[in-house]
Amino acid sequence: MSVRDNRLRLEAEHPADAALMITTKRSQVGHPWGKLTFYVLFPPQSGPADWLHTRKHTAGHFAEHLSLPAGAYRVRVFSKCHCNKVPYATRQRAQAALLDVKIKRVVVRSADMIERGVYRCPQDDRVWHLTHRSGQHG
Ligand SMILES: [Zn+2]
Repeated sequence: MSVRDNRLRLEAEHPADAALMITTKRSQVGHPWGKLTFYVLFPPQSGPADWLHTRKHTAGHFAEHLSLPAGAYRVRVFSKCHCNKVPYATRQRAQAALLDVKIKRVVVRSADMIERGVYRCPQDDRVWHLTHRSGQHG
C-alpha cells in the first residue's frame, strides 16, 4: 500500500508480468467497496497493453486465471498523464525499456540516450516513465 497526496494504491504484480491495482482516495477510507477502483493489466501479448478498469469480482477472477470472464465489464481507461514522455504500464516494463536504452548506449555510444532510472508518473498511478536521473522513485 502506498500513499501519494490524497490517493491510496494497492498493487500486486504477477511473475508473468500481469498486474492488479486497486485505488481510492483518502477521503473514501471507511466507505463500502463501491468506492474502490479496480484495474487489471494483461501479460504482454496476451491482451490489451493498457490497464483495464474492471469490477471487484472480475478483478478477483483475473487474479486467479489471468483472464477476464467472457462478456465481463471492462473499459480501456484514459490516462491522466500529460508528461509528453513514453508511458510504461509497470515499473517492470519501464525497467526493461531502460535496459534497452543502456544496451544501445553501449553499442551506439550516443550522447542522446541518457535515461538512467524509472519513476511513477506524478499524474497517473498506472504510468511509469524513464528519467535521466539515476535511482528509482515512486
Ligand atoms: Zn506522466
